[in-house]
Amino acid sequence: MTIAANLGFPRIGRRRALKTALERHWAGTLDAAGLQAEAARLRATHWRLQQGLGIGHVPSGDFSLYDHVLDTACLLGAIPEGYGWEGGPVAPATYFALARGARGVPALEMTKWFDTNYHYLVPRLAADQRFELTHNRPLLHYREAQALSVRTRPVLLGPVSFLKLSKTTDGSDPLALLDRLLPLYARILGELAEAGCIWTQIDEPVLALDLSGEAREAFRRAYAALAGVRTPELMLTSYFGPLGANLATAAALPVAGLHLDLARGAADLEPALAALPEERWLSLGVVDGRNVWRTDLRAALGLLRRVADARGGRRLMVAPSCSLLHVPVELAQEERLDSELKGWLAFATEKLAEVAALARGLDEGEDAVAEALAASDRAKASRAASTRVHRPEVAARLAAVTPEMARRASPYPVRRAAQRTRLNLPLFPTTTIGSFPQTTEVRRLRASRARGETDAATAESTLAGWIAAAVRWQEEVGLDVLVHGEFERNDMVKYFGEQLAGYAFTDHGWVQSYGSRCVAPPILWGDVSRPAPMTVRWARYAQSLTARPVKGMLTGPVTMMQWSFVRDDLPRAEVCRQVALALRDEVDDLAAAGIAVIQVDEPAFREGLPLRRAEREAYLAWAVEGFRLATSGVGDATQIHTHMCYSEFNDILPAIVALDADVISIEATRSRMELLDAFRAGGATYPAGIGPGIWDIHSPRVPSESEMTGLLALARERLADGQIWVNPDCGLKTRGWAEVRAAMSHLVAAAHHMRATAREAKAE
Ligand code: GLN
Ligand code: ZN
Repeated sequence: MTIAANLGFPRIGRRRALKTALERHWAGTLDAAGLQAEAARLRATHWRLQQGLGIGHVPSGDFSLYDHVLDTACLLGAIPEGYGWEGGPVAPATYFALARGARGVPALEMTKWFDTNYHYLVPRLAADQRFELTHNRPLLHYREAQALSVRTRPVLLGPVSFLKLSKTTDGSDPLALLDRLLPLYARILGELAEAGCIWTQIDEPVLALDLSGEAREAFRRAYAALAGVRTPELMLTSYFGPLGANLATAAALPVAGLHLDLARGAADLEPALAALPEERWLSLGVVDGRNVWRTDLRAALGLLRRVADARGGRRLMVAPSCSLLHVPVELAQEERLDSELKGWLAFATEKLAEVAALARGLDEGEDAVAEALAASDRAKASRAASTRVHRPEVAARLAAVTPEMARRASPYPVRRAAQRTRLNLPLFPTTTIGSFPQTTEVRRLRASRARGETDAATAESTLAGWIAAAVRWQEEVGLDVLVHGEFERNDMVKYFGEQLAGYAFTDHGWVQSYGSRCVAPPILWGDVSRPAPMTVRWARYAQSLTARPVKGMLTGPVTMMQWSFVRDDLPRAEVCRQVALALRDEVDDLAAAGIAVIQVDEPAFREGLPLRRAEREAYLAWAVEGFRLATSGVGDATQIHTHMCYSEFNDILPAIVALDADVISIEATRSRMELLDAFRAGGATYPAGIGPGIWDIHSPRVPSESEMTGLLALARERLADGQIWVNPDCGLKTRGWAEVRAAMSHLVAAAHHMRATAREAKAE
């Protein structure tokens, strides 16, 4: 019989109950016992829900109060000194200190979980790290479910991935610690087997990365060791891409089953069928766990049938491609979503129903699931035929794109001269990244406007007042290039998505980003166009108040996609081009309205980089083209800025140069300008303007003028004076006005200091 399996369920709850409980706990209004009770209630709800949907292998241990990598570190006693842990079970206070920092101790470093928008905590290991099984939590959760009559398949992050995702304090290879870790895995699994657990899922997602020979050898060693002891049957899972060159290694490991992500790694199927021994179980991840579209059930069933025939019908599982952590919990609760669009979507709950239907269809034949198949066919047909999704005018515009449209009229040196004449900026020009504090007042106005309690005219005049005050203050403090402050914007993607055709928004479509933090990504579902100007009115208004240039402020095409669920019926490159053309209209309109400086933010440019090296060039090519298409419609004297934060530039500098922006601002404070080294690597220097951030806006601390001057001096070691812009690391929306006033006056003073020394240098 085919088994319907799940790899992981969202933890947050359909109405974000986990977020509420966590935040109450942190605020001191819910004690640890209360938090645990709420967590147990959520686990029970999710287990029963999955069981009720017909899932045979329901995961346990996928639940986490903050992050499953942190859970694994705590399970294994990989807790750095200073957090007050002295062996045994990890207390909630210690756990949250690791996750969020506490008095005297910083949080562990946080980074992106592969190419998702989920963030995990990076375990910090000593070079001679000793591990200790603190508390067999996977066993605990297995038993907790068993007590509710749900037989679960515990999920463990595998030893090789755990180490590959960790960092050692001395920079040595964490894989050197593998042999110390394996006895603990053997014990955890042994105790699970002892308790009657039949299957355990062991996640080794690093198999989707380019692996060295040593890492592959580590896999062989680890799983040979585990094969030598009593364990439940192991389902080895990897996801987020094809196993590719790691397939032979994975297929040869002595485990009971192998899972394939067929949404992103369809190319693995044939080689896996050829390589897998007959007794091995095969889990087919045919339901996309990373996106929100319904599965084409008939096509998926056809594929499953072929595999079943090839394998004599035995030892098959059907599953989502990866954990459902990355999609919202339940579509059914979206009451305001466009009903046609809703018919094309499936969230975690609906996806599990698809998994169950596919397993049933395979075992009992199409007739047994005729209704589900018919509904899927109807959705597919209506989506394919929809004139709201496929709009001829958008296709025609795309077809008419010429290479010249992605090229500025003149090369950078010519533009620089034209911009100098027009803008007449001093050396070390000062600016900000766009947003000013989103105070309670600002948020209250948006909320009351959304509820209809404030009328449009009142909202407009309030906004105008804030913008005017912000412009006046920027003149007073002495900034050179001003901004309007983004008070009207809720979110840098949503604000634009709401004004573009082709985007939709959910009410409850929350996905965990980290800890209690969730995002509700928009759904980019149809051909994109810009029915009307989006930002021109406020930009023009702000510009009318001052003789200094006010920057227009837009979100770039890559970020507009990267932070959304994107349609899966077109190549991403093509969707990007559509978004780029819509933004191009806006850029051109801003320029026509007299806006001389236009910033197109691309904070997600780096994070869109594919996991596998072989795919990166193609991504960078279309991402760069998108930016250039959006920004190349303007004349030489219009200055195009871009902004990127949380980025490593080392491996993408040629693409950054290729963006051909006139100025780029980046986050550089925390790295003490070391990020700039990438901008002059290999003897090549970045030609255009750069504003390395000199104020870490993630911290409430206000840096002094001399700290800022010190950073600019470091920048000057790496860049020419005529190139350097002076600005904070990112937008100021999370800061308060008191900090902004103080820090920006220091920043302007630091720029003045640099100008004075530049003049002296020239006089010598
Ligand atoms: N212009 C945006 C702001 O200032 C940029 C935000 C970002 O880079 N994440 O808020
Ligand atoms: Zn930023």
